[in-house]
Amino acid sequence: MQNTESAGLAQEGIGYLEMRDYNRARWAYEQSHPAAPFMQWLKIAGYVNFNVTDVRVQASSGGHIGIPATTLAHDEIQRISNELNRWAGVDEAAHDKFGASLLLDLGREVSTAMHRWPMEDRPHKVDAMRCGGCGMLTLTYRPPRFEGDHIRVDCPCGYVLEDDGLAWAVAMIEKEERERRDSLGRTRRGNAPREAVA
Ligand SMILES: [Zn+2]
Repeated sequence: MQNTESAGLAQEGIGYLEMRDYNRARWAYEQSHPAAPFMQWLKIAGYVNFNVTDVRVQASSGGHIGIPATTLAHDEIQRISNELNRWAGVDEAAHDKFGASLLLDLGREVSTAMHRWPMEDRPHKVDAMRCGGCGMLTLTYRPPRFEGDHIRVDCPCGYVLEDDGLAWAVAMIEKEERERRDSLGRTRRGNAPREAVA
């Protein structure tokens, strides 16, 4: 078998990609569209996950506090996806050396994310967020059902979060996480307590 790295173009494939990598990239390209259900889910999965091991543990362990790994993965996939926007499509990108390497990255990132955090396709309780209406831990996560559909979080009291509202709530949680991390950092360094700083 010829060394395709030195030869440049793939022997049997599209552009600089071997067929297997090309196929994975095509699939990842579809999955990484901002309106795709998987991306909708990955964006906020860490905040609505019923798995206690995700946000809750991170927030209370004091060791690793911060933005959930799912959100970081989402941002990385979105970054690669945005870079790929300079080409008209997968085939065009595959015929460019840099584009092909981005497609390899995209394929790897999306398949890894999907393997680690398969989309929750059934409704479930949210325990990382209180209801903005009644203040109880009674919110329910409802997954996107089709391309372009949005994640919805709602409560029996009638309170509903979706689109901008949900994005805002997630941003608030992120902000709180960051402030908690900062104040822990200050406490560890023996500085003034949070109240005195604020
Ligand atoms: Zn409520």
